[in-house]
Amino acid sequence: MIALKSPEDIETIARAGAIIAHLYRELPERAGPGASTRDLDRFAESFIRDHPGAEPAFKGLYGFPATLCTSVNYEVVHGIPADRRHLLEGDIISIDCGVKLDGFYADAAITLPIGEIPPDIERLLQVTREALESGIERARPGNRLGDVGAAIQTHAIDAGYGIVRDLVGHGIGREPHEEPQVPNYGKAGKGMPLEVGLVLAIEPMFNLGAAEIRTLPDRWTVVTADRAVSAHFEHTVAVTPAGPRVLTV
Ligand code: MG
Ligand code: MG
Repeated sequence: MIALKSPEDIETIARAGAIIAHLYRELPERAGPGASTRDLDRFAESFIRDHPGAEPAFKGLYGFPATLCTSVNYEVVHGIPADRRHLLEGDIISIDCGVKLDGFYADAAITLPIGEIPPDIERLLQVTREALESGIERARPGNRLGDVGAAIQTHAIDAGYGIVRDLVGHGIGREPHEEPQVPNYGKAGKGMPLEVGLVLAIEPMFNLGAAEIRTLPDRWTVVTADRAVSAHFEHTVAVTPAGPRVLTV
């Protein structure tokens, strides 16, 4: 079942989303060489809880132990923050975070460079960010879900990147993961019509190598099968009469 959101619901999600966006403006200066992923997680948790009524949405979700998912280099998503995991110059880190506020969830992800990174990896980040922007642009009434995936997919194909297919975006609202699934591939003009009030987490994951992924024995951390690096960007987006509205800004 698809739960469409009222304008008031969307405002609440936007208030939750603004906390994540603010957090993501604070994190880059803290994500330097030598910082541990657990340092970032501690900062994020206290930052979120400093906002009255806001709580980290991922902590405890399905048993996940932290506020942030911190996925370094060839880790794709769901990396667990750890005191012993120190960031190094030239790494990239994908950070994924959800916030719950007044009964609604928002969800967003960014991939940050740690110091100087090689040009081919810089480009992976840039292309994945652009793919997200293209997907968001298609999230408007009159379009279909396949338009979003098709727009995202084009960027990966043009650049020769692997698209993670086993993990997808999703509806979001009173639950952190709602229907529909939002694949990062698809056929333009196909799939569910996009209606006003639909709120989607759109989240391309592109790999510098092949598409295949594995889950590590910790049962959380998803990595690329070929250990090539991976980038992840995500926004929560409402379909409104005026077009897409990004709620995690
Ligand atoms: Mg997310
Ligand atoms: Mg998500």
